[in-house]
Amino acid sequence: MTDIDWTGGHNDSPSSAQLRSAVRAFAETAVLEPARRYDAAGVFHADIYDALRKSPFPAACFPPELGGTDGSTKALIVVLEELGRADISTAVTFATTVELAAGAVLLGGTPEQRATWIPPVIAGEQIASYAIAEQSSGSDVKALETVARRVGASWVLDGSKKYVTNVIPHLPGYVVIVAKLESAGRDAPLGAFVVPYNTPGLEVSAPHDKMSWRGTVLVDLVLRDCELPEDAYLGGGAVPWTSGVSRVFELGRTGMAAIALGSSERLLQESLDHAADRVQFGKSLDSFQSTRMRLAEMCTDIAAARLLVYRAAELRDELLMGRYGFEHGIDTPAQRTYSSLAHVAKLFTSEVTGRVADAAVQILGGKGLTEESDVGRFYRDQRMFRIGQGTTEIEKLIIARALLGSRVETAAQS
Ligand SMILES: Cc1cc2nc3c(=O)[nH]c(=O)nc-3n(C[C@H](O)[C@H](O)[C@H](O)COP(=O)(O)OP(=O)(O)OC[C@H]3O[C@@H](n4cnc5c(N)ncnc54)[C@H](O)[C@@H]3O)c2cc1C
Repeated sequence: MTDIDWTGGHNDSPSSAQLRSAVRAFAETAVLEPARRYDAAGVFHADIYDALRKSPFPAACFPPELGGTDGSTKALIVVLEELGRADISTAVTFATTVELAAGAVLLGGTPEQRATWIPPVIAGEQIASYAIAEQSSGSDVKALETVARRVGASWVLDGSKKYVTNVIPHLPGYVVIVAKLESAGRDAPLGAFVVPYNTPGLEVSAPHDKMSWRGTVLVDLVLRDCELPEDAYLGGGAVPWTSGVSRVFELGRTGMAAIALGSSERLLQESLDHAADRVQFGKSLDSFQSTRMRLAEMCTDIAAARLLVYRAAELRDELLMGRYGFEHGIDTPAQRTYSSLAHVAKLFTSEVTGRVADAAVQILGGKGLTEESDVGRFYRDQRMFRIGQGTTEIEKLIIARALLGSRVETAAQS
């Protein structure tokens, strides 16, 4: 038992505390052990996903008027932090579905589109994906080459997507595809389209093998004359997706920071437990000053990350006050403050998790690098936090742009 509550829970309202303890109990029983097997095999964590989709946690991430039970950013963050404490792949599958894909529908869709695409996610009937990256366009979003053209009453998409999480063609689900409208010019406006997995013209590659997030599915997509009905276009042109992309990324980055926070907490717990148990030179590791220094640094990093992540979530909730469309709070001082904090939180927390994972491996010694602990899996999985949804360098460029205003420009994932 420690004197510092770094494991979560401080400042929780009664409803957040209840949600946290429900997710934590679920994660410890339904996620932790199977996650080891799926990671070792490098295949989609089907049983975990099945339990998660039937749980009440998707509903917690959406507002009551759409069939959810909460819908605040705080609720989403609590769920992601607690899933991240057990398994990063599980948290990523969940986050991709609720906050990136269904989140894009929530933020940019019409009321009819929200009513069509969100309830199946809440009910666990559909998994969902969000595809923006391409071979030519990772950090550089303006280099996107997939184009959506208006043909009669339909939209026709042509192009390809590189690295898309969650596309599992034999499951019912959809992918939100970000494309240029009408031309691939660098400054062409962007649109987002809901594409069910079984749509003719959508080709799905075999899954990639990967070092991180081995329990998730990662594929490439090809879109060849992929014809969609008019209402597949999110927002129907009423909202500017060029700024909408940033709103989705801000939420995604806040969520990724929460997963990183939860995984850091697990790594510290594993380190504390091992340092207490392991005896060398007749003493437990936690009696050595170098171990104590390391543990104190991990704890301090995590405590600072926790404040940033939860402040970003609170700011977003204060800003939106229960509303969720792109039309709310665009380009206001409050929106810019939240946006900057989302980037700062993601940058800082992903760096913290890297330091914490490295320290945890050092404390566990050989055990940290073998199947005898979960630390090796977290060490591999956390590495992606500094790449996904804005690399460390891109996050720094965006934060600097906010600091310096019009004196700098980037064409990066923002
Ligand atoms: C496991 C996994 C899951 C993923 N899931 C999804 C998904 O579901 N949907 C999706 O759309 N994408 C997904 N991606 C793609 C991911 O978002 C991109 O990999 C990420 O945005 C970085 O793009 P990139 O890999 O092309 O790197 P690049 O953009 O090529 O960057 C490579 C390096 O160059 C640096 N760099 C680039 N530009 C600059 C600059 N202007 N200044 C300084 N440094 C720069 C970067 O910081 C980085 O260090 C996934 C990727 C992986 C590996």
